[in-house]
Amino acid sequence: MEQKEQDIHSILKKYWGYDKFRPQQKEIILSILHAHDTLALLPTGGGKSICFQVPGLALGGTCLVISPLIALMNDQVQNLRNKGISAVAITSAMNYREIEIALNNAALGHVQFLYISPERLESEKFRQQISYLPITLIAVDEAHCISQWGYDFRPSYLRIAEIRTYFPSVKIIAVTASATRDAIADIQTQLQFTHQNVFRQSFERKNLRYVVQYEENKPERLLRIIQNIGGSGVVYVRNRRKTEEFSRFLNSKNISAGFYHAGIPSQDRAGIQQDWINNKTQVIVATNAFGMGIDKPDVRFVVHLDLPDSLEAYFQEAGRGGRDLKPAYAIALYSKTDTQSLRDNFAESFPDKDTIRQCYQAIYNYYQIPVESGEGLSVNVDLAEICRNYNLKQISLYNSIKFLEKEGYLALFDGGFEPSKVLVLYGKEDIYHFQVKFKNYELLIKTLLRSYGGIFEQYAPVNEKDIAFRIKAPIDLTIKQLQALDTQGVISYIPQTSLPKLVLLQNRLNLKWNELSFKHYATLKEKSLARLESVIHYVEEKNICRSRLLLSYFNETEFQDCGYCDVCVEKNKAGFNEDNLKQKITWALEQRSFTLDELAAILSKYPQKLVLETISTMIDEDLVVINENKSLSLGNVR
Ligand code: ADP
Repeated sequence: MEQKEQDIHSILKKYWGYDKFRPQQKEIILSILHAHDTLALLPTGGGKSICFQVPGLALGGTCLVISPLIALMNDQVQNLRNKGISAVAITSAMNYREIEIALNNAALGHVQFLYISPERLESEKFRQQISYLPITLIAVDEAHCISQWGYDFRPSYLRIAEIRTYFPSVKIIAVTASATRDAIADIQTQLQFTHQNVFRQSFERKNLRYVVQYEENKPERLLRIIQNIGGSGVVYVRNRRKTEEFSRFLNSKNISAGFYHAGIPSQDRAGIQQDWINNKTQVIVATNAFGMGIDKPDVRFVVHLDLPDSLEAYFQEAGRGGRDLKPAYAIALYSKTDTQSLRDNFAESFPDKDTIRQCYQAIYNYYQIPVESGEGLSVNVDLAEICRNYNLKQISLYNSIKFLEKEGYLALFDGGFEPSKVLVLYGKEDIYHFQVKFKNYELLIKTLLRSYGGIFEQYAPVNEKDIAFRIKAPIDLTIKQLQALDTQGVISYIPQTSLPKLVLLQNRLNLKWNELSFKHYATLKEKSLARLESVIHYVEEKNICRSRLLLSYFNETEFQDCGYCDVCVEKNKAGFNEDNLKQKITWALEQRSFTLDELAAILSKYPQKLVLETISTMIDEDLVVINENKSLSLGNVR
């Protein structure tokens, strides 16, 4: 075995304890180690992170990882740290001082993995700061975000190519779980790959059984599904209210169910997830906020009671079933009104231009940011509060922000939970004098210094409840004291938050003189509509195998019918499968030769498309030959 291969195997064994790479992982890693820009497409749960973490370790120095999801970033950083690998995340939830400290550590070469949110790259200063770091590999997670027409475009991703100029010999590894053919080409062009280099694993999930059912009585049907299939499952619905309603319904039928959505306080979310992961609750009813970064192998069913906006999203959500490769079901239930409401929602999710202008102004007014300033600011955002103040509808504000994000004005990040943090700003000497002078702070300061090591150098995550307990004071007084110390500049205190963050990427425009850019408006609308229509097509189609339909959406065409989805099962029931048809054709041609039309007439009870496909396959396989007079007879191979 070549040296590099040995090295990466021992890294995998040493840090992860695994003996073997999964399909494609080794090829991807070696491609990077042989200094090729590399794009890796692996389905969710396929083991993408190892594809950049192993070469990151093999190359030494710092691997810069760009990732748009704070929760996922924090997760990965924690996992690496648990393995004794030094990893740091710079997210939009951090203030400039925290960033400064993290970057200083990285500059000293103390950081093996530096995770950053893409919008950091908008700042020229930040780009320069990272140019001094000993970076040996750039990893781009969720790489489809760079594709302008993709379902999750992030303008800041376009900046990644710019930082390449600082590190001309450093290679890029881009990974994603979803990319259509256009996106694959786009990702490589935008990231300035020297040559095209893609590794892709088929997105076929052999053990997933896709089922679509028309159903007016969804609760009853859901109940039967859960009773029949059994085991652990996820139920996706569109809004928060429904998560609670359906979980209550299931509990009332003796099926233990929890619910999950982005409005649940972060402290409770972890517990809800954990109960489900440990099978204390059988089912979790959730909005699409659930699932990212969750790696539960034994999910037996994923039921969609509402349809998602795109097949990309459907594929990701359904794909959370059967990670253990045992059979699992991906079931979508839809009723008469569903497809219409999907289209109606779509109309709402594209606010008109006036509404977008109004929302733009409301945001800047709310934070009292004057024109020509604001760039780089990161603020907690409470959408409901802004709506109350400016009389806006929340769905309009949210979708206007989504649009403004696509035009590069700002970026919205779903609030991952950030604990409270404290950094002591005074030097050791000064803090001593301060304590002596202000006795009523003495206990608090002493407790901080004693309980949180390194608090002079780095922000320490603190827990106000613990501190209050230790200084034997009520919690609200403790918080007030921390705030007072912050105001006086003794410490920097950042209270915990789980609110989403809004990062302003440009200075405020004066809309009297400048028009907002609507460059992408028309195309975005068109592309989103096309994605939505694909979902509707998926549920309404009755003749094409579901798995094949999904795969063809991701431009994979070389596949047989899965044999398990509702379409295949129906066909099989009716005897409409290819094998059965091949037999019938063979019998007919054993009697005499027929023209194509004659044969089609004999087999008229079979779907015509299937007949034509089967004959064409038999011709390819030389089972059937075309005679000079265009009639068909049996071939020699049998
Ligand atoms: P993704 O980012 O593609 O969703 P992850 O990188 O989180 O997936 O990996 C999913 C799970 O598979 C993780 O628990 C990971 O440790 C595991 N895994 C990855 N590669 C291997 C491997 N070669 N052998 C065994 N388990 C692996």
